Amino acid sequence: MNRRDFLATATTASAALALSGCNQSNHKAIDYSKHPHANGADKKRVNFNKNKKTVIKLATSWPAHFPIMGTGVEKFAQRLKDISSGSLEIKLYPKNVLVPALAVFDAASSGQIDAFHSGPYYWKGKNSAFSLYSGMPFGFTAEEINSWMLFGGGLELWREQYAKYNLHPLLGGNTNIQMGGWFRKPITSLKDMQGLKMRIPGLGGEVFAKMGVNPILLPAGEIYTSLERGVIDATEWVGPALDIKMGFYKVAPYYYSGWHEPGSILELTFNKHSWNKLPFEHQAMIEVCSSEMNANMTTEFHAKNIVALQKLKKLDVKLLNFPTEVNQAGKKALVEVVDELSSKNNDFKIVSESIHKYLILSKKWADVGLKHYLNER
Ligand code: CA
Repeated sequence: MNRRDFLATATTASAALALSGCNQSNHKAIDYSKHPHANGADKKRVNFNKNKKTVIKLATSWPAHFPIMGTGVEKFAQRLKDISSGSLEIKLYPKNVLVPALAVFDAASSGQIDAFHSGPYYWKGKNSAFSLYSGMPFGFTAEEINSWMLFGGGLELWREQYAKYNLHPLLGGNTNIQMGGWFRKPITSLKDMQGLKMRIPGLGGEVFAKMGVNPILLPAGEIYTSLERGVIDATEWVGPALDIKMGFYKVAPYYYSGWHEPGSILELTFNKHSWNKLPFEHQAMIEVCSSEMNANMTTEFHAKNIVALQKLKKLDVKLLNFPTEVNQAGKKALVEVVDELSSKNNDFKIVSESIHKYLILSKKWADVGLKHYLNER
């Protein structure tokens, strides 16, 4: 497949190429009629006894009651308790209580805990393909990534690749569109990005690095002070709702719209053995409640962002867009990053091709549907 097409507006020819792409890669054909949820008829049934209580140890990468992500998991646990008449209890361990924030993947993989709530791009060191399950720069919106996950083969690929780590992922939320970040000085050209020290993780960080930025990884607690003291020149975080709480506007007032995380997935991932030994009824309840959590977190981000944006405007924040040459350089850098990672890792190649194929079609529909409407209203 011609990877240069990745970001080009799809022509009929490239769409046809994309449609035939499944024959060219080793990605198996997708059965769009299949919904990847637990199917009681398919598996050996574990007896369900509603009087027997099952406790699931679930660790998260967020502090207790962390807005939207932390509180969302707490609501999920409560809903499961209610729906199961108390027969299913999620014992929640916030960040660092039982397991360090970024050790939850290994802890669930080894069976130390039954499940975790986090974000797949944290595990790109295990397999670069995992970062793609969070999303990618210039990639899917929240709605599109859910569509690819549930009906475009994304979740099947994810489960196949996580199974090698003894893990079973479910959709666990979405940050919705993120902002490009907070800058101490305005960005007027690509030149202004050269050597800029910016806190930006994931694939976005790799794309920014190709554009001349020096991406820095910092724990959440150190970002504000580093920005204030000029140790870093810029940081991305999430969007207005969470960014305002970090106070970045006080030290870096230039707030840019972005494209590096257009709809980042959060995961609810189970140890495969812990998942398989649950009765079908409990699996189904978990799937229903995780679907609810996935939808609610996405809309809660939207609801809280619209309020926080108005507050930020009153605080004299400068809302800006990157110059066109910066955006163009970002698209070019993305193609290079995807090419490099695909040549190093076949899993990355398979997943990025599946995304590419779906994205080309989705863009065609978005152009005549949603994008048209948003431009006109
Ligand atoms: Ca982010």
